[in-house]
Amino acid sequence: METAITLDELRQARKNLPAPLGLVPTMGYLHEGHLSLVRAARRECASVVVSIFVNPTQFGPQEDFDRYPRDLPRDLALLEAEGVDLVWTPTPQGMYPEGYQTWVTVEKVAAPLEGAMRPGHFRGVATVVVKLFNAVQPDRAYFGQKDAQQALVIRRLVADLNFPLEVVVCPTVREPDGLAMSSRNIYLNPQERRAATVLYCALTAAQAAYQAGERNADRLRQAMEAVLAREPLARPQYVSCARLDDLQEWQGEVSGPALLSLAVFIGGTRLIDNLVLGGEL
Ligand code: AMP
Repeated sequence: METAITLDELRQARKNLPAPLGLVPTMGYLHEGHLSLVRAARRECASVVVSIFVNPTQFGPQEDFDRYPRDLPRDLALLEAEGVDLVWTPTPQGMYPEGYQTWVTVEKVAAPLEGAMRPGHFRGVATVVVKLFNAVQPDRAYFGQKDAQQALVIRRLVADLNFPLEVVVCPTVREPDGLAMSSRNIYLNPQERRAATVLYCALTAAQAAYQAGERNADRLRQAMEAVLAREPLARPQYVSCARLDDLQEWQGEVSGPALLSLAVFIGGTRLIDNLVLGGEL
């Protein structure tokens, strides 16, 4: 397995990699969710590149950039064991040198939900992803359904900016109790860790109602809220039942594919999760 830090090193190493090339962008502190993307890329591509970059521009000023967990030696060992060809670990200086001033903004699909709660987040995500795509020039790029809005934002920019690549979205990998794997789960103390299962419980309650025939969007949102209300450590930020294509909230009857999603503070840790009803990403 090769590693690269600078753009020159990345380009030099990339030259020798056969097509089709799969890219898995990550912020590191890898878990089984990340590794599921790596395995999908390994199955479907002749070469696999993983980027590890805690992208400062997608964090708000009050967010956890400084304390975001990092463990590069462990990450490299995990990726080596998965048969990854090349790992790129750019630095903030390398990505955003003095004088940097170019940004990518996706509009409508980036506006609600995470976009509304985290101003500037998707501008940072879209910009870094475009830079990763330009540098690595992958044929396929792998993302997790865990961050469903991010996947939709990236699909939109790939289409709008004519990137010649396929966006592959892989299912959310969960702990045995349903909690979606996330690098941020490390922030949870044991009591909070138990409380954190409430996100998936809320989603599955609404999914069960949907499967039993409930199509009223307000009642599906209420099904999630009722479960969240029973967990004293949970402070919901939003609960959504939105159209899967444009993420506008369903009003009245849900008559097409829907994304159930929520963001919840468990203590000081902000967690997100989602499920798709009647379709797939
Ligand atoms: P991150 O390191 O959090 O930026 O995540 C890197 C990629 O892994 C993103 O495409 C995420 O959606 C994906 N990912 C994170 N957690 C999971 C999970 N539990 N299951 C599947 N994919 C995930």
